[in-house]
Amino acid sequence: MTDYLPVPNPTKSFWLTAEVDFHDHRSTAELPAEADIVIVGSGYAGTTTAHFLMEEGFDGTIVMLEARDVCSGATARNGGHLKPSLYYSQKSWTKKFGEKGAAEIANFEFAHLAAMKELIEREKIDCDFVFGRSCDVHLTSSAVNAALENYQQFTKNPYITCKHDVQLHVGENAKTISHVLDSEVCVTFTAGQLWPYKLVTSLLRKCMQKGLNLQTNTPVLGSEKFEDKWLVKTARGTILAKKLVIATNAYTASVEPRFLNKIVPIKGICSHITPKVRPSHLSHTYGIRYDGADQDYLINRADGTVVVGGAKKHIFPFKNVFYNVVDDSTLIPGTKEYFDDYMKHFHDWKFTETETDHVWSGILGYTDDSFPYVGEMPHESNKFIIAGFHGHGMPRVLLSAKALASNIMGKELEVPAAFKISQERMTKTRNEILASLGTPVARL
Ligand SMILES: Cc1cc2nc3c(=O)[nH]c(=O)nc-3n(C[C@H](O)[C@H](O)[C@H](O)COP(=O)(O)OP(=O)(O)OC[C@H]3O[C@@H](n4cnc5c(N)ncnc54)[C@H](O)[C@@H]3O)c2cc1C
Repeated sequence: MTDYLPVPNPTKSFWLTAEVDFHDHRSTAELPAEADIVIVGSGYAGTTTAHFLMEEGFDGTIVMLEARDVCSGATARNGGHLKPSLYYSQKSWTKKFGEKGAAEIANFEFAHLAAMKELIEREKIDCDFVFGRSCDVHLTSSAVNAALENYQQFTKNPYITCKHDVQLHVGENAKTISHVLDSEVCVTFTAGQLWPYKLVTSLLRKCMQKGLNLQTNTPVLGSEKFEDKWLVKTARGTILAKKLVIATNAYTASVEPRFLNKIVPIKGICSHITPKVRPSHLSHTYGIRYDGADQDYLINRADGTVVVGGAKKHIFPFKNVFYNVVDDSTLIPGTKEYFDDYMKHFHDWKFTETETDHVWSGILGYTDDSFPYVGEMPHESNKFIIAGFHGHGMPRVLLSAKALASNIMGKELEVPAAFKISQERMTKTRNEILASLGTPVARL
């Protein structure tokens, strides 16, 4: 479905100011006629899957097909925040999956912190990786109530192994620790930040050095079974794959039409802000929560600048500007102005003049039941998927990709049950996305 392909001329994110000499690389001038594994998508999910396949000892041929330049999707335009969701969704997760299932997701996300550190250190990747603490600030009474109820559920779940890491602060302590004077309640826990484009392109370079064939600017249009293989159709011809991996996130319907309405492209906005005079360094990365799904996120970069995303007040009421939208070549009206004023939330920054020097859009892949789809597709042997990571891929993709690579090599798929693709999930017709976003109806 060509309507769901990435568009040309996307906005340029702050992260894309890092020049990569192979951004439009093709390892061979012609598309290879066949490959043992074809991976569609060169973002965080596609690249880490290739990396872990090689780490697992896979020594066949791998071809990666990318519609635009390398890593030009959500990964290159996100907030750089590696922030596990430990307590905040515990009530809804427990309702859906019971205490064990809810704990499995929180523990899996927490494990990403150590896994990311290990990967970056072992592969010696220069990507501004910093471990610190994130602070969730709850600014409305409904956000405070939701935080307290979820925190309570989190503390009483006997299967959660990362409780030691999460601290709840109320009253004056919350204001002091968060640096936000309106904050009655805040919750802190370990989180990371990094330059996602540098991480992924460094890993990709290493994969190419080990033999990965990269084909950029090669949109995939679909696939069909050919004997026991997959004939992958691209704008540059076909390639026959023994195994096919779909890592196309928001754009999955372009390759796999059955994901129409199951993975929905949602447009998001992010910014990079530079203070004119450097105020005191913010002590945390942040999640700033208002009512319902309305929240912003922020990382405090070591150079004194910040990356802030969200602006959902300007996005979520207007379904036509963000829902089912793959166009990241434009912004959304009102968002730059929102970020221009943003840092006034923090009392140390109240009188600091700031410049919003980069604002960009990106397309998130929201799923109908809010969990990613990972694993071998039902009734389509040797076709695998790893997609649908919402605005929350950093603490979910890495270990999903590791598990998927093992699964492709014949092992059990070890991801939370909620993430596993199944016939039951594929046949469900209920779409929870709009309800989770506060049911937007108006037009901008
Ligand atoms: C504005 C914004 C802010 C975000 N902030 C955060 C954050 O701070 N923390 C966090 O955890 N997550 C965040 N996210 C989400 C996170 O970026 C994603 O979950 C993650 O990057 C997904 O990685 P991916 O590889 O699955 O997708 P992508 O990076 O989108 O990669 C998919 C790739 O597939 C390619 N492709 C698509 N269709 C085709 C096709 N038909 N043929 C060939 N190639 C194709 C695309 O061009 C793209 O390169 C944010 C996302 C956005 C958009």
